[in-house]
Amino acid sequence: MFLLPYFTPQDLKAMQQELGIKLDKNRGQCYLIDKNIIHLILQYAKLNPNRDYVIEIGAGLGILSDFLIQNSKKVFLIENDRKIAKFLYSAYRNDYSCDYYDVDQLNCKIETFRSQISTSEAKVIIIFGDVLKIPLPNANRVVANIPYQISAPLIFKLIEEWQFDQVNLMVQTEFADRLTASVNSSNYSRLAASVGLFLDVHINHHVNPNSFYPPPRVSSKLITLKRKSPIYVGDFQSWDNKELYLTFLRGVFPHKNKSIRNALKLWLKHSDEICKTKYQYFNKFIENPSHFVFSNEKVRNLTPKTLFKLCIFGITGEFADGEI
Ligand code: SAH
Repeated sequence: MFLLPYFTPQDLKAMQQELGIKLDKNRGQCYLIDKNIIHLILQYAKLNPNRDYVIEIGAGLGILSDFLIQNSKKVFLIENDRKIAKFLYSAYRNDYSCDYYDVDQLNCKIETFRSQISTSEAKVIIIFGDVLKIPLPNANRVVANIPYQISAPLIFKLIEEWQFDQVNLMVQTEFADRLTASVNSSNYSRLAASVGLFLDVHINHHVNPNSFYPPPRVSSKLITLKRKSPIYVGDFQSWDNKELYLTFLRGVFPHKNKSIRNALKLWLKHSDEICKTKYQYFNKFIENPSHFVFSNEKVRNLTPKTLFKLCIFGITGEFADGEI
């Protein structure tokens, strides 16, 4: 027997009472109640039951999890409301081989957490904890209706720990617009410049607030993220130099309305010696701006590719294909 999905607001209200919980929009607890949307998510995810290891972030009361379990080889359900995580365990433990991990009570260091859960033989692995504070388990997919308040840090985490064939998410509409913002638009930010180098973002479907209970104040989008092929600047490959690029963006994007030269100046002025040494060739750029075509361009006018080229210049002092 599978856990039955709770498709009506009345059912969810009854569940809240039974479990002694109160769904809180501020914690991103807006639960899907629309079967059509769940089917659409599965259509876009195209899971392979014989092969796919799926992470669900914010599993809630399991409405989507039920279907993910039936359509994959293994699922990791991450949920940071302890009562809800325990409920999931009690609901699934009779029907599946099921493990429960409480991140607060781990008897191993957080660094060994990934290998511990990855060796679990269970089909359903429930993890109580904040997804932003734990290493993601080994999996080739993520499918989730995510808590919207952690959208941006979660995308950065996915890029940093990327190991996925595909990621399918429900996100707030405005957030989908931020992910796909083009250069020099008001929405262009560190987020878009990061995503722009590494990921292809496909907007799949619009979702109304009344597909959730309680209904969020915003509309939503189903999106698919896939890994972009790497680009090369000389011998430097984008994915292999992810950390260098993301650090560089963290440095200059707080000053996105300033010229890149001034942004570099401000960043390096306030950074430590290790960072200054690592990106040492930026001094050349700051001191000889006339040698660089776009030293007066605003940060927000630079494409991810140009930013990556510039980042590599900071490290090597060389441009692979001529002047920037
Ligand atoms: N997947 C379910 C629930 C989505 S609501 C459904 O579609 O109905 C998002 C869920 O994420 C909530 O249950 C909330 O408790 C959980 N959550 C919020 N912040 C989280 C975090 N930092 N880490 C893990 N889970 C989180």
